Amino acid sequence: MAPNDAVITGFTVRDLRWPTSLDNIGTDPMNLAGENSFGYLQYKTDSGLIGTGWSFANGQGNDVLCTAIRSLAPRFVGRSLSSITANMGETQRKISSGQIRFMSPERGVLQLATNAVLNAIWDLWAKAEGKPLWKLVADFTPEEFVRTMDFRYVSDVLTPEQALEMLKQQAKTKADRIQLALQNKAVPAYNTSAGWLGHSDDKVRELLKNAMKQGFRHFKLKAGLGIEADRKRLGFVREVVGDEGILMVDVNQLWDVDQAIEYMKQLADLKLWFIEEPTSPDDILGHAKIRAALKPYGIGVATGEHVNNRVMFKQLLQAEAIDAVQLDACRLASVNEILTVLLMSSKFGVPVVPHSGGAGMVELCSHISTIDFVVVSGKKSILEYTDHLHEAFEASAAITPEGYHVTPRVPGYSCDVKEAQFLEFECPNGSFWSSSVGQKMLSDPWRGVPGEQSS
Ligand SMILES: [Mg+2]
Repeated sequence: MAPNDAVITGFTVRDLRWPTSLDNIGTDPMNLAGENSFGYLQYKTDSGLIGTGWSFANGQGNDVLCTAIRSLAPRFVGRSLSSITANMGETQRKISSGQIRFMSPERGVLQLATNAVLNAIWDLWAKAEGKPLWKLVADFTPEEFVRTMDFRYVSDVLTPEQALEMLKQQAKTKADRIQLALQNKAVPAYNTSAGWLGHSDDKVRELLKNAMKQGFRHFKLKAGLGIEADRKRLGFVREVVGDEGILMVDVNQLWDVDQAIEYMKQLADLKLWFIEEPTSPDDILGHAKIRAALKPYGIGVATGEHVNNRVMFKQLLQAEAIDAVQLDACRLASVNEILTVLLMSSKFGVPVVPHSGGAGMVELCSHISTIDFVVVSGKKSILEYTDHLHEAFEASAAITPEGYHVTPRVPGYSCDVKEAQFLEFECPNGSFWSSSVGQKMLSDPWRGVPGEQSS
């Protein structure tokens, strides 16, 4: 049997949570305690191949995500892989339709579940073809690429014909960029591991120096502690990284629009490339106002990790609201919708700088950024590199001594987590979550809320 004729025979969904808050990983101004978590789906097939897909959560709520995945996953049971992938754009449209769409169309937890299910299909497809996902997409003809996308709601800025024309232009030089990808020279990395709010100044200094030794020149830090505290912290960071270091700051939706403008003006002398998520991720015109106000100060605006769908990105681009498209590989409806956003961003000339600040995100995004460079924009753009939990993955991400992401080589979408991780971190029965420490964390309804957390 050809692998593409594999029939999906069943699935499992597991709730996986790493207690990352114990190391202050994932701490930001809105959340004191982030536990990197997956709603983890595996499709079994009659060929023996397994398709793995997951979406990301931050601790509490991961059970809701798992329930949503269990609601959608049966739609593909009994189907052959080739019947699902023959027209992936239509598959995306169908899985976003029906009774369940009422829960919140292409938004929220349902969109996360859609992503997990489609990620498992893309993973299975790439494994069946024996290629890493980025290469599966790089080997598509422009027509095949366009067939994976759903243009509904975005055809006012991007038609299938325009997409085809853009892809044909880039196809002329694609072979050269595939060679660069195979030499691990496609995706430069930037570092966020030094920047979590929970780290002491000494710890930040040490992490920055290590990152610079690894070849990093771009650094992103959490901010929003108050002008004086931020000036002190960012001031010594600027000293450590020097004038040539490129600094970005992230406040995770902390401010109102005018507050963001006033606050950031006072940090202008620190020469920051952009402010990330200055306000509500839904406030497209607010981001546009902040960007216009900060432009004379040389500070850009970035957002995207909580942007739920292609329509919001369309409007952010139309409103000239952002200097970087920070799409999240799990927040959109999988590779299908990501490809649409890559093409729209390229059309508007805004670089894609994916959000990948959590477990497994670098593993997925290294495929996405490679596709952007090789197939869509033809331009190098940076990708976040966080240095935790790579050892948990079968096909783990890494960087080169020159500060590039290693281009994925293993067939699939790099979603597979090592089974040993589940013995410890599956929730609630893994050994960590069964322990007294784990039980206390799980039973605190206010975990992550400043002033309320009791665990
Ligand atoms: Mg962020």
